Amino acid sequence: MENCIFCQIAKKQSPANLEYEDKEIVAFWDTNPKTAVHILIVPKKHIPSVTELKAEDEVLMGKMIMVAKKIAEEKGIAEGGYRLCINAGKHSGQVVDHIHLHLMGGQKLDAMV
Ligand code: 5GP
Ligand code: ZN
Repeated sequence: MENCIFCQIAKKQSPANLEYEDKEIVAFWDTNPKTAVHILIVPKKHIPSVTELKAEDEVLMGKMIMVAKKIAEEKGIAEGGYRLCINAGKHSGQVVDHIHLHLMGGQKLDAMV
């Protein structure tokens, strides 16, 4: 998607503080971090949100969680604990319409639910 910032980052057309990359996934630091560690795990494929996921994306979503797990271990935040979060749609506050998994940690997090 031409006007999608996360597609641009995935294609290296926009800069980002990259933490991980493979054939299907990139992970980079959030430019406005809400926690000490705040990294976004993003599929290279443009999927606007969870609402648009197809059955064929099931494995990809699993891989994104495995990438988050690996990064959490590498960053040394796995033992303390962390949060994985996906916003979907207006009520959630989703602002970038390219699906992404937030990895948040490195500090005590307020309870969400
Ligand atoms: P959402 O609310 O859509 O789940 O989260 C989008 C996140 O992307 C926000 O935390 C925001 O700070 C981050 N973000 C927005 N634009 C950019 C960008 O151009 N680069 C990076 N690295 N993060 C961004
Ligand atoms: Zn996109």
